[in-house]
Amino acid sequence: MNKSLSVIVPCFNEEEVIEESYRRIKNVLSKLELSTQIIFINDGSIDRTEALLSGFSSKDKNVKLISFSRNFGHQKAVTAGLNHCTSDMAVIIDADLQDPPEIIPDLIKTMQDTNAQVVYCVRKSRKGEGIFKKLSAKAFYRLLNFFSEVKLPVDTGDFRLIDKSIIREFNQMHEKGKYIRGLVSWIGFKQVPFYYEREARFAGETKYPFSKMLKLATTSLLYFSTKPLKLATALGFFSVIFSLILGAWSILGKIMGFTHANSGWTSLFVLIIFFGGVQLLTIGIVGSYIGNLFDEIKNRPEYIIDKKMNFGTKEDEESI
Ligand code: UDP
Ligand code: MG
Repeated sequence: MNKSLSVIVPCFNEEEVIEESYRRIKNVLSKLELSTQIIFINDGSIDRTEALLSGFSSKDKNVKLISFSRNFGHQKAVTAGLNHCTSDMAVIIDADLQDPPEIIPDLIKTMQDTNAQVVYCVRKSRKGEGIFKKLSAKAFYRLLNFFSEVKLPVDTGDFRLIDKSIIREFNQMHEKGKYIRGLVSWIGFKQVPFYYEREARFAGETKYPFSKMLKLATTSLLYFSTKPLKLATALGFFSVIFSLILGAWSILGKIMGFTHANSGWTSLFVLIIFFGGVQLLTIGIVGSYIGNLFDEIKNRPEYIIDKKMNFGTKEDEESI
């Protein structure tokens, strides 16, 4: 029997690109000797994305649609796609054609040749992205690796081919804060890189403003490392030592006459602000972990589905 492949495409306000993405992905899939399907996730778009996606699903039963009740974010959209994937393999790809679907056959070939469970795509270059995005992405991946307790490949997004053992393990993970590329790395098995040129966005604007990038960065940092907590301890430790030395220096200086401690208004002022800052920073770090614990403990669903199409289930094609 032929193996099956799902292509998972998260979409948020992609009305300008989605028809072209569908056309190009479909074109690639039609040449594969596999049974294939596309799973589109409409992540609470407020433009015509949902109408366009419903149109594809009504005409083509191999196009499945999951539509969220609101915008839950890219990582949740991909999670929903993986949760609903029953194929032997899955490709995760962005809707904006920055990741060219035409390399999917090469990914499959690499997976077969190397017997790997994951083929992750590494960006050789990034076209059409501003200098800030390029530099911040470069710095971010390296900083994250410094902190992280698992080795995470650098310059890699979620564009990748994974097989069913990875999908199965991923679907066992019930943490709410998801950093998918990190979790896939964490799962292990054999993972091999595939180098490609990242294209410019086909049309429209990025759907990842700075606030969403920051959220992804903090999730990845806090969920993959407790080093920030250790850093907070180190900062406290450093401050105590520093103040002891300073204390000894001023007492000795007073006795031996090499300081004039009571003239030090500025140094006092700076020190108060410095230690105030250290304390707030430390509380902030601890607070971020507590905030995540709070979110996890509430145990809310990760996303709410409004509508599904072509899954062959009861709620199909009707709003829940
Ligand atoms: N996306 C999403 N939900 C969001 C933001 C983005 O599903 O809240 C999708 C978006 O439609 C695209 C992918 O995630 O398919 C990557 O987003 P984008 O291309 O805007 O990010 P960038 O490439 O600029 O980092
Ligand atoms: Mg993009």
